[in-house]
Amino acid sequence: MARKPIDVKEYAKGVLDGSRTTLARAITLVESTKPAHRELAQQLLVELLPHAGGAHRVGITGVPGAGKSTFIEALGTTLTGAGHRVAVLAVDPSSSRTGGSILGDKTRMAQLAVDDNAFVRPSPTSGTLGGVARATRESIVLVEAAGYDVVLVETVGVGQSEIAVANMVDCFLLLALARTGDQLQGIKKGVLELADVVAVNKADGPHEQDARKAARELTGAMRLLRGAGAAPKVLTCSGLTGAGLDVVWDTVREHRSELESSGELARRRRQQQVDWTWSMVHDQLLASLHGSEAVRSIAPELERQVRDGELTATLAAERILRAFRDS
Ligand code: GDP
Repeated sequence: MARKPIDVKEYAKGVLDGSRTTLARAITLVESTKPAHRELAQQLLVELLPHAGGAHRVGITGVPGAGKSTFIEALGTTLTGAGHRVAVLAVDPSSSRTGGSILGDKTRMAQLAVDDNAFVRPSPTSGTLGGVARATRESIVLVEAAGYDVVLVETVGVGQSEIAVANMVDCFLLLALARTGDQLQGIKKGVLELADVVAVNKADGPHEQDARKAARELTGAMRLLRGAGAAPKVLTCSGLTGAGLDVVWDTVREHRSELESSGELARRRRQQQVDWTWSMVHDQLLASLHGSEAVRSIAPELERQVRDGELTATLAAERILRAFRDS
């Protein structure tokens, strides 16, 4: 079926007018890795950038099962009820590996998915974390231009995706789980270093006391790790009952107000642009290196020599880089 060529001005107008269909198409455009689409996407972003930047960007992480989608559904619905327009994006690079996105299933947020004031978009499945993160960053620009004033970016607590998401939001919220009293489930030190706010989730019914205990212990651990002044607040909540969600959201808002009044928010966002620039340079360099004919033609033999102990890794790396440079 022949498709109408993409008209950037029309897309920009549709997004600004709040057309959900156009917004969805515009996101598909920024997710595309085809060179022609990349070019159109950049034109579209240039048109829309002056209208972006207005949202409160919040990253939400937690291991699978931590209750992220239940939490986002409950928080998102409360926020739209209070007059906000909420966009939910996701960074889940594993989704392309498994074929079906863990964060892609809209039925996980059934209520929010049909809320007129919410826009739920599954994780792009373009492959590498770099590609997925880029598409999500650019999607933030689009949803902001479309008038969404809260952007929630969900990510799974595995791999490097948390760093990517922490680098595109104003506040990074960790949903933790208490297990048996004093143990916290599957939290990596790296994530504790990134978190701006921590909430021990599922603090309901028989788990409530465990969650409170875990929160106290985590508060202590955070102080040791980051120093008393820089330690994030550790709260408890339940996405299921809604208990404590208001306090979590107030804390996220306070965190942003503090960033704003100290000038840190603007600084953070500018630095994120610089980091983003370099991460795109890295990704593209790596992609061209792996795509280089000169590299591909020598790589299998070099790999074999390294495996068989005929060549050191250092020399092999030098040869690969030289072949790339000279190509
Ligand atoms: P995700 O993988 O982090 O998105 O987690 P889900 O939101 O899909 O939740 C995983 C499981 O935990 C589901 O069976 C939920 O019903 C349950 N769950 C989620 N939030 C809560 C909560 O606040 N309290 C309790 N008790 N269960 C919850």
